[in-house]
Amino acid sequence: MTSFELPRARPVTERPAPVDPPCWHHPEWSERHPWLVQGCTGRGADDDFDLSPFGAAPAGAVVQRWAELRRALGVAASVHAPQRHETGIRSHSETGGGLHLVEPCDGHLTRHPDVLLAVATADCVAITLVAPRERAVAVLHAGWRGVAGGMARAGVGAMRDRLGVQAHDLEAHLGPAICGACYEVGPEVHEALGLEVPPRNTPVDLRRVLVRDLVAEGLRPAAVTASTWCTRCGGSPFFSHRAGHAGRQMTFAAVRR
Ligand SMILES: [Zn+2]
Repeated sequence: MTSFELPRARPVTERPAPVDPPCWHHPEWSERHPWLVQGCTGRGADDDFDLSPFGAAPAGAVVQRWAELRRALGVAASVHAPQRHETGIRSHSETGGGLHLVEPCDGHLTRHPDVLLAVATADCVAITLVAPRERAVAVLHAGWRGVAGGMARAGVGAMRDRLGVQAHDLEAHLGPAICGACYEVGPEVHEALGLEVPPRNTPVDLRRVLVRDLVAEGLRPAAVTASTWCTRCGGSPFFSHRAGHAGRQMTFAAVRR
């Protein structure tokens, strides 16, 4: 099977939030889950709202942008980590305010209020998992290596084993990422993703592969949504690695205090 024969998630278009700096929110979640802080940042009007502390942007400017983001969202603490295209997930509890850079990992989860979890992307998929009943959240970074390595299983498993959240109680959103038309990859990537192996470089839709994987882990298909935004095409307001941008946006989630 190719990725284009897999079911799509229900499409959702993130909307600009009425805050400065530039943030985009899942409109259904904003309405349904007032306890939840969620969304992702954008490039900004001058293409310079880069939040990655591990890239080219000056550290002082990055720290300042994180402070602006926390102020706009009304959250005291934020956590982020260098990402390794693996499936390690860290749990976070109450912490002091400010930006906390922790040891490398590709996912974060918490049920504690006032801790903003964030993963960086610029074409890769950011997965947000929300447990409305338990009021717990996770954000996960998954490029093709993370998807192939089992990030869906790791994320759903961590919510179950550490927080007692069952898969059928989870909602998932696959954020702005490179689309199936723009993301051409080699046959080895298709093979690693468990897809039909094409004879030459061929596009793949990573978000559809993640829908397959999340549903296989027990999520209800109706509880999985995917952004209509492609980071690369369609005049996207987001950074795209393949479009040559050096910056990174943050997909974030927190339990409101
Ligand atoms: Zn595209």
